[in-house]
Amino acid sequence: MAVPRRAGLAVVPTRPPLHRPNAPTKAERDKRHDARRSAEQPWRHWYWSARWRRIAKKQLTEHPLCATCDKEGRIVPATVCDHIIPHRGDADLFWNGERQSLCATCHSRDKQAEERGGRARQAVGADGWPV
Ligand SMILES: [Zn+2]
Repeated sequence: MAVPRRAGLAVVPTRPPLHRPNAPTKAERDKRHDARRSAEQPWRHWYWSARWRRIAKKQLTEHPLCATCDKEGRIVPATVCDHIIPHRGDADLFWNGERQSLCATCHSRDKQAEERGGRARQAVGADGWPV
């Protein structure tokens, strides 16, 4: 069988879409997902409060560089106000716990791995040695 080609590249055949008339739409699935998350983790709403936005803005204004990147010798603007000790829904830790500024890369990589119970990534300095 001849492989159809376009501009010299083989066109990879794709599976035709399935017909599932009763399946929930993406919007319905997303709504269910959000409802489940809100029920399981009501503290997520704290991030949307004016109080938290004020705290985060103050943190990023006073410490505009990523703390982790800074330790490793890189100058990277921070975009996330991070709880140094994971609050896990503890209101006192959430509002009053120690905070640091991180870039999105460091926040999602290091902190979330740590919170899942994994090991924190070892920071490496500009000389290549652990900090
Ligand atoms: Zn960083």
